[in-house]
Amino acid sequence: MTEKGYYCEYPEAQPFAICLTHDIDTVYRPIRSKTLEILSALKNRDLARAGRIVPQLRSKKYPEWNFNEIAALEESYGARSSFYFLALEEGDRTYAYAIEDLEQEMGALLDRGWEIGLHGGCEACRDLEQLRREKRHLEKVLNRTVDGYRNHFLKFRVPGTWELLEQAGFRYDTTLGYPDCIGFRNGMCHPFRPFNMNTSQEMNILEIPLAIMDQTLLSYMRLNTEQAWTQTERLLDAVERHNGVLTILWHNTFMTGTSLQFYRKILKYGHEKGAWMTSCKEIEAWWQKSGMQPP
Ligand SMILES: [Zn+2]
Repeated sequence: MTEKGYYCEYPEAQPFAICLTHDIDTVYRPIRSKTLEILSALKNRDLARAGRIVPQLRSKKYPEWNFNEIAALEESYGARSSFYFLALEEGDRTYAYAIEDLEQEMGALLDRGWEIGLHGGCEACRDLEQLRREKRHLEKVLNRTVDGYRNHFLKFRVPGTWELLEQAGFRYDTTLGYPDCIGFRNGMCHPFRPFNMNTSQEMNILEIPLAIMDQTLLSYMRLNTEQAWTQTERLLDAVERHNGVLTILWHNTFMTGTSLQFYRKILKYGHEKGAWMTSCKEIEAWWQKSGMQPP
């Protein structure tokens, strides 16, 4: 029994869970980075590599699709994760890519057992029609139901967005977190069913609160890597003590250099501790199945 009154058991008696998530805000690299890549290949007299990149300049799009590499990295530590894709139309605010272009990539992730959820646009957190439109759009491309949600820029209204998500047919949300610091926004490290103050009733949707975002940790909080790890370890310890769930957001654009190394360190730590490292979908299904509720 934990101090918060939950009795949590995980499928293989793991001591705690790490819920791994990725928001896909952009999938194309700016042309400048391609040009720099060619220059660096030429400098290293690697004509073959330069030759491979040149034809890509003719197209207007320079894909940065590293989803399968991310999945392979996670798999090597016995982990799975959730990817949240924008399903906006051209002309929508923060439109960045056509979701149709990613049909194959998303299919490959689903086949591996990874989850695809909706990354709702700026308006979706307060506009039911927009939310439904984006959900339908993603479902049409995937040809399957989408259960999970996180809003772009972590925009959220309490309890309004939960109400809209329930009405649109989502099973869980994982938006609730602090953009500017890490930690447990609702003061606890377990998923929960929100209490709707408007209706004085517990809601059906499950909230899987977000505790650590890459940008928060490595940019907004102005920590060096060592300090960032100390903070992360503090939260991992707390979750282990309370056999809770730590939800982590690592963008696809943070999968290079030191931020990639940092992500790998989290995976390694979780693997060594025997944590259940999985997608939000599996956490939600487990919560539902085992009926974990406060006493
Ligand atoms: Zn986003």
